[in-house]
Amino acid sequence: MVRKSQHKQTTFEIISVGNELLIGKVVNTNASWLAKRITEIGGFVRRITDVRDDLSEISSAVKEALKRGTKWIITSGGLGPTFDDMTLSGVAKAVKRPLKLNKRAYQMIFEKYKEMFERGILKSLDITPERRKMAELPTGAIPLQNRVGTAPGVLIKFGRQRIACLPGVPAELIDIFENELLPIIQKSIKRTYMVERVLIVKDVIESALAPVIKEVMSRHPTIYIKSHPKGRESGASIIELHLTTTTSSPEKIEKEMEQAVQELREKVAALGGMAEQ
Ligand code: ATP
Repeated sequence: MVRKSQHKQTTFEIISVGNELLIGKVVNTNASWLAKRITEIGGFVRRITDVRDDLSEISSAVKEALKRGTKWIITSGGLGPTFDDMTLSGVAKAVKRPLKLNKRAYQMIFEKYKEMFERGILKSLDITPERRKMAELPTGAIPLQNRVGTAPGVLIKFGRQRIACLPGVPAELIDIFENELLPIIQKSIKRTYMVERVLIVKDVIESALAPVIKEVMSRHPTIYIKSHPKGRESGASIIELHLTTTTSSPEKIEKEMEQAVQELREKVAALGGMAEQ
């Protein structure tokens, strides 16, 4: 399978904010969704971090990611109106820029409340401090329209690095990522392709397969092979092998990928097992 993607080698980190993630109440589907999507477009996700709703935890996680030189840092959660939504304060602290009312963000939020007021969902159109809070962004930040919920996403340019803050509600995060962020990300990374194959290996246990993987990877250094044990089926061990590579020339790498698959098949057969695609 070839996926058109962007590469070489734009780095991403995902920082998910929320106590609910760290007490096991909510499964971090935002991070896995983002990681999958970023990988599909050819980005390289180097780290996923979960932090509590705590100003210094958020700011130090962002600072560390910036220090590592990561090009794109994407946060999820903590953009709402309540006191414990403090992602933007944490980011502001990390980039040493004060929070300031952003007119465009204010307008976006006002339009949302106006719509709710007109539909009778809201009793008053007052922009309370809690509602205003969502429009206070680090200076120079760009608000990203949220078509599903209220709090806009936020894009911050920090030299050559970028920080994008997305809401925690998955439907809102997906909407802003797909419609607002993706076009910007795609402009900022080079075009390449991700090529992948999946092989199902039966009857060879992982420790016996390990030297085979090592040998095939050393013969094809651009191909990464990851083994995923899938348990046993009527006594036989089942392992999924996932072969991936990113390239600017898919035709060349397709051939090499076929060779790697063939070598794996032969070596698995020599061990008395079976490998099928
Ligand atoms: P809003 O602007 O709607 O208030 P928010 O940015 O403040 O959103 P949070 O309050 O952090 O978001 O989270 C809202 C809800 O989204 C949580 O109660 C949880 O159900 C869900 N959520 C938050 N983070 C994640 C995550 N990483 N993965 C999946 N769901 C999440």
